[in-house]
Amino acid sequence: MTAMPDRIGAPAVLILLGPPGAGKGTQARKLEQDFGLVQLSTGDLLRAAVAAGTAAGLQAKAVMEAGGLVSDEIVLAILKDRMAAPDTGRGVILDGFPRTAGQAGALDALLAGSGQRVTAAISMEVEDAPMIARVAGRYTCASCGEGYHDEFRQPAKAGVCDRCGGTAFRRRSDDNAETAGARLAAYHAQTAPLIAYYEGRGLLHRVDAMRGIDEVAQALSGIVSRVSG
Ligand SMILES: [Zn+2]
Repeated sequence: MTAMPDRIGAPAVLILLGPPGAGKGTQARKLEQDFGLVQLSTGDLLRAAVAAGTAAGLQAKAVMEAGGLVSDEIVLAILKDRMAAPDTGRGVILDGFPRTAGQAGALDALLAGSGQRVTAAISMEVEDAPMIARVAGRYTCASCGEGYHDEFRQPAKAGVCDRCGGTAFRRRSDDNAETAGARLAAYHAQTAPLIAYYEGRGLLHRVDAMRGIDEVAQALSGIVSRVSG
């Protein structure tokens, strides 16, 4: 009699890609809830490792205190430690790492070391012009913080806040078309090689992130169900 093969699937390793404003955070939280995955963002990982005083965390701390950038090697060591924790048994959603094709290659090598691999890279795709319009027209009530938009949400009475009656409004200086456009251009330039890397390995899934939150969630959920089956 031969032993039955182990039917427990390997934990999913999902890479979530998308520019600021694409709704990545909201969608990652939904995936956590629906699939028992754990979202690991680079910033949170580093802070947690430093606080926990792990070997890699102490290295990261020294680099950051010296004003340097934490190396890929240290980030990978921290990621490896974190992925060994029991709460990641169903899988992880990586957010903010890898950022470059080189980091993606290093991540593949790390995962291969423990018999794992990237399950899918999901690119939340946006159209630049409407994204820029969304960001560029935003402003808020100076007294209560209620959000408005030049095009999509004006107060019922011009110049008067619907919620508190305030008449002073403010705009963030970086919420303008030029800055928003530059942010998107930087995102595209940085992620194009990464997207090509995963596309070349047949792991890339593109999701139209211009649709409503629920539709996007449904599309993501369909992908995760298919790849982690
Ligand atoms: Zn107000």
